[in-house]
Amino acid sequence: EMFGQLTSGLETAWNKLKGEEVLTKENIVEPMRDIRRALLEADVSLPVVRRFVQAVSDQAVGVGLIRGVRPDQQLVKIVHEELVKLMGGEVSELSFAKSGPTVILLAGLQGVGKTTVCAKLANYLKKQGKNCMLVAGDVYRPAAIDQLVILGEQVGVPVYTAGTEVKPSEIARQALEEAKRKNINIVIMDTAGRLQIDKSMMDELKEVKKVLNPTEVLLVVDAMTGQEAAALVTTFNLEIGITGAILTKLDGDSRGGAALSVKEVSGKPIKLVGRGERMEDLEPFYPDRMAGRILGMGDVLSFVEKAQEVMRQEDAEELQKKIMSANFDFNDFLKQTRAVARMGSMTRVIGMIPGMGKVTPAQVREAEKSLKIMEGMIEAMTPEEREKPELLAESPVRRKRVAQDSGKTEQQVSQLVAQLFQMLVRMKNLMGVMEGGSIPALSN
Ligand code: GDP
Repeated sequence: EMFGQLTSGLETAWNKLKGEEVLTKENIVEPMRDIRRALLEADVSLPVVRRFVQAVSDQAVGVGLIRGVRPDQQLVKIVHEELVKLMGGEVSELSFAKSGPTVILLAGLQGVGKTTVCAKLANYLKKQGKNCMLVAGDVYRPAAIDQLVILGEQVGVPVYTAGTEVKPSEIARQALEEAKRKNINIVIMDTAGRLQIDKSMMDELKEVKKVLNPTEVLLVVDAMTGQEAAALVTTFNLEIGITGAILTKLDGDSRGGAALSVKEVSGKPIKLVGRGERMEDLEPFYPDRMAGRILGMGDVLSFVEKAQEVMRQEDAEELQKKIMSANFDFNDFLKQTRAVARMGSMTRVIGMIPGMGKVTPAQVREAEKSLKIMEGMIEAMTPEEREKPELLAESPVRRKRVAQDSGKTEQQVSQLVAQLFQMLVRMKNLMGVMEGGSIPALSN
């Protein structure tokens, strides 16, 4: 699971505060050490970790007693706020040119997913009604040009190519002319990626940038490279001047160092993230949601948004309300499960479901199977049992019947019931903290 290790590392910190009545200078020493360790293990850059831990401790000691809120929950809230700040606070939107085509120049080292991002970005903007054109500027690898042409076809966006004999800055000039002639809204240019930064790469980018006068210059970086990604963003910004970064491969088992370090280290925001190999797997970077995920809350908002794509509007709103109020029963569970099944990319969606965040990409197939099993068991429940999960929690007889009717073991049914309740406890605890409201008595 994305950031799984970081999440459980942070959990260690909260757990040390169980049973405490108030946060003090003394009792936060251990938890702060855990937080520090968790962040370093996630490959967050050291100066960033230092500043972060300092900011959190300063606030924690001063916060005092809040009625009905446990100290561990107070600390979660402070860490949540600081994580959001660390990642830039607000979502950083793409800018568009006031007149003429908006030009987006993409740079990045080889293999980070730059060519894929070109097509994903065109696909993303096309869905917003923009008229896009891709430009093949990686003249050193004919295969990169072919790849861009294929991906362009796949998303239904024209690709401007001029072979490998023309200089990238000249390709840029021609492409821009063509875009103006054809009333294209957005020009996205792919550039050559090298294995490492070198002078000719930077010079070429500078030249292309001069010709294009782009609205956005985005550096594509791989989340798996951790704080190295943040260092790259800094270097590219100093060398050519960039407007932001795109973080790819967040669906893999990246540890979080890149997402948490880029803004603080380079001063440049992450604007978009790639979360898979499909053309649909690109989305804005939401610092608050990312912080929520890191804290193990699951990405409820992203999930609901995804669900909206496949569910009717009212259904999705109702689902959101139910999750928030924790009035969530097996009917909702089933609805959600089915919606999820229709959503395709299981890895990502599973990570978003609160309490199911422990699934790794390698277990996707397994997860798909277990969703089928769950579905069968819920179908074997009476309408009343689906609405009142506590009936099953209280009655082994009912669980046995469900097991028999669905052809599963009693243990599997018990697990399903426990899972639903676990999810609710977790949601209640964390939602209370996020909204700053009173915390329900439920606890683990
Ligand atoms: P480039 O050399 O930077 O142009 O990289 P490519 O676009 O050719 O991508 C390299 C590999 O990374 C390809 O196999 C892509 O499918 C894969 N890739 C790109 N973005 C993502 C992502 O967000 N998640 C995953 N899992 N794979 C990605």
